Amino acid sequence: MSKPIYLDNNATTSVDERVLEAMMPFFSQEFGNASSRTHAYGWVADEAVAQAREQVAALIGGEPDRVIFTSGATEAINLALKGLARAHARKGRHIVVTQTEHMAVLDVCRSLERDGFEITYLPVNQAGILDVRLLQETIRSDTILVGVIWANNETGVIQPIDEIAEVARSKRCVLFSDSTQAVGRIPVSANQADLLTVSAHKFYGPKGVGALYLGGGRPVIRLTPQIDGGGQESGRRGGTLNTPGIVGLGKAAEIAVQELESEGRRMAQLRDRLETTIIERLEGTRVNGSRSSRLSGTTNLRFPGLSSAKLIPELHELAVSAGSACSSGSGRPSHVLKALGLTDEEAGASIRIGLGRFTTKAEIDRAIDLIIDKVEAQWTLSPS
Ligand code: PLP
Repeated sequence: MSKPIYLDNNATTSVDERVLEAMMPFFSQEFGNASSRTHAYGWVADEAVAQAREQVAALIGGEPDRVIFTSGATEAINLALKGLARAHARKGRHIVVTQTEHMAVLDVCRSLERDGFEITYLPVNQAGILDVRLLQETIRSDTILVGVIWANNETGVIQPIDEIAEVARSKRCVLFSDSTQAVGRIPVSANQADLLTVSAHKFYGPKGVGALYLGGGRPVIRLTPQIDGGGQESGRRGGTLNTPGIVGLGKAAEIAVQELESEGRRMAQLRDRLETTIIERLEGTRVNGSRSSRLSGTTNLRFPGLSSAKLIPELHELAVSAGSACSSGSGRPSHVLKALGLTDEEAGASIRIGLGRFTTKAEIDRAIDLIIDKVEAQWTLSPS
């Protein structure tokens, strides 16, 4: 049986062969511990980690010594939110985030609530965009942190980060942005937010490795470490460094610097071809969220009267999803789509399609045919 066409690149991407090649020596020949100072095994690993730190910093125009390697974005989010909350609790205990954050952020917020922090979950408009004036009005004297997802994992909607940063700065709040879907896909600049997340597997690197970037001015933002032990990462994150993973992250970042723009243009063309053809042929189809401020490879389509739970098994030749990979198994309507004002039925009639570096035009044409065919068949079975 041939494998389905992979259109779930917001969940994860395949490792680029060039990334894999860069990583391979660090599993066997160059297996040293980057913290070993007494022999060449350690020195080689340490040098490789230093190079990766530079590559990650270069991707976002930042400084290498502000990159903290982690096991991925979820850990980076935990470090950013819990680490900041705990280090700044004496200043205030109020945090503001949007309702469309990834569960990795929302779950940390729930944990902080249990620890006595107060969280305000701001609504977004129908396009999925945060009203900056509302943010301004919500920040209080005891607000220590504003958290806004840069690009949404379900809709691809991109927030007006610069305007949000202006408000946060004018109110002397730290701006954390879950930039997991943005870094490596669209230009992200380190000085646009104070804390940024990076995850290698979202841009053709390996799973289980990422980073937190400590932006902002000087002194560097204070965070309470969430993993103690060993003093790695300047005492901010203990544990032996995952050298092969970090090398892979660095290589993926280097490739993204070179290819991000042309790749973005190519994916937008393919995505628009898919979207416009489907909308033309399947009357009533809607795109969830902003169509203009959006990641170039993402579309979230809604087919009136349909159930994605029934449609997706019919589309078994395509690897697509009903929402984020983390929540699509839950059976609950997407909190992101609900925040855009969709009813449970509308949210349940939506599918997410995520194109990637290796998506071809032939695959998109096949996906268009299949989606039209299967949606029409379902409409015929259950006319609204
Ligand atoms: N934040 C967003 C927006 C994501 O899309 C993801 C991945 O699904 C995460 C956080 C978690 O990333 P990781 O898989 O690296 O822990």
